[in-house]
Amino acid sequence: MNVFRHPLVYILACFVHSYSQDLSFAKELFENHETYKVEGFEQRRIKQAEVLSAIEKTVTQYPGVFQSRIVGKSVQGRPLPMLSFGNGAIDVLMWSQMHGNESTATRALFDLLHFIGDQQDTPRVKNILSALRIHIIPMLNPDGAQEFQRENALGIDLNRDALRLVSPEAQTLKRIRDSLDADYGFNLHDQSRYYNVERTPKQASISFLATAYNYEKEMNEKRTDAAQLIGYLHAINEQFIPGHTGRYNDDFEPRAFGDNIQLWGTRLILVETGGFPEDREKSMGRKMNYVLIGSALEAVATSSFEQVEASVYWNIPENDRKLFDLKIEKVLVTVAQQSFVLDLGINLNEEDVQSGFVLDASIEDRGDLSTYYAYEVIDAEGYELIVPKRYPKKIKTNKQRNKLIREGYAFSRLNKEGNFGFTGLQSVKPSLEDAYTHVTFFLQKDGKLEILVLNGEIIKLSDY
Ligand SMILES: [Zn+2]
Repeated sequence: MNVFRHPLVYILACFVHSYSQDLSFAKELFENHETYKVEGFEQRRIKQAEVLSAIEKTVTQYPGVFQSRIVGKSVQGRPLPMLSFGNGAIDVLMWSQMHGNESTATRALFDLLHFIGDQQDTPRVKNILSALRIHIIPMLNPDGAQEFQRENALGIDLNRDALRLVSPEAQTLKRIRDSLDADYGFNLHDQSRYYNVERTPKQASISFLATAYNYEKEMNEKRTDAAQLIGYLHAINEQFIPGHTGRYNDDFEPRAFGDNIQLWGTRLILVETGGFPEDREKSMGRKMNYVLIGSALEAVATSSFEQVEASVYWNIPENDRKLFDLKIEKVLVTVAQQSFVLDLGINLNEEDVQSGFVLDASIEDRGDLSTYYAYEVIDAEGYELIVPKRYPKKIKTNKQRNKLIREGYAFSRLNKEGNFGFTGLQSVKPSLEDAYTHVTFFLQKDGKLEILVLNGEIIKLSDY
């Protein structure tokens, strides 16, 4: 018998399918983010001083709303502050930047606090504050943040210290989790900008995980709740950054915090912020964290996420790591007097310097890269890779540099200054290996130089 012929089952089925999520709050947040963006958090390389000053400003700007206290200290003695607000019965614990170089959520959390303080008398925020008690440990790893590194001052990954609890930062997180016996936990991270949504060129700008609590990856009631809440958040992502959401691998890691916190009875949601086109400082990631975390609070306060099926979570495509910054497709490369067609996968790596970072390009892979994607793709079919010439004298002006580029030069003699982006080379006659090592070469078509790739940067010669 076809159960759908039964009128009641049919009506119920229609009801289930007709559930449509109310996105109005998410839309409001998406639109007002500019108003609530906290100054000084434009870039990813933030240090604890900025966080401490943001906490102080938040607490004093909205008296009676936020309470702050020191709940521990780092290996190097930096305080670990926690902000708490709301008067409800449901405890929500959030922590960010357990990995010192993953600051996106930290930046977004202060934007959200600004919004909550400012809108404390609106029905929506009132409802959040009366239903929830929220605790935030922003920048759990301030020593790592100081160096913009993943690990803490012991050189260990805090997310592998949930069992042994060697580090004071991990001890603090565990103690707070236990003392609250939090109902919900948000573990806020950044992931590599080279993660994509499986079999698509889209960056995994936000990835979610309802962490597993055992090797069997079983689903209990709480993990199912976490999956449902993620399903709810996924619909928000689809509204604003469609196709940019990944589902993080749920292999059980017995030493990780997310996995253990789920095991200890807190509904745990992992949020990983990845890359987005033309957005190295993750402004969009910050905005989406603001929208998603704010929406999650409302969804928990109203239980609205419970209407979402856990299957929505399982249908989110998986994370993959198939992106380069630049992919050059099907370029002709001459080796041993023969031509070969190759794809080149190029990344622009960040090298820390005093004022921030500089980009240093490297060729990550060569050959058939047809299953890979990139932030920028050059279709070089019919183009030949030409090794640039080395200019033996000092370059004096931009005009001269541009003329040299048109003549096929992009290396210079070894000198520290005056080479206008040309790489200094000792060898008088640059080789293909030099071109690869420095990611510096021309693309030539029909005997004419058209494009210069200069340390991974694309320069169109028609512009010169
Ligand atoms: Zn992380």
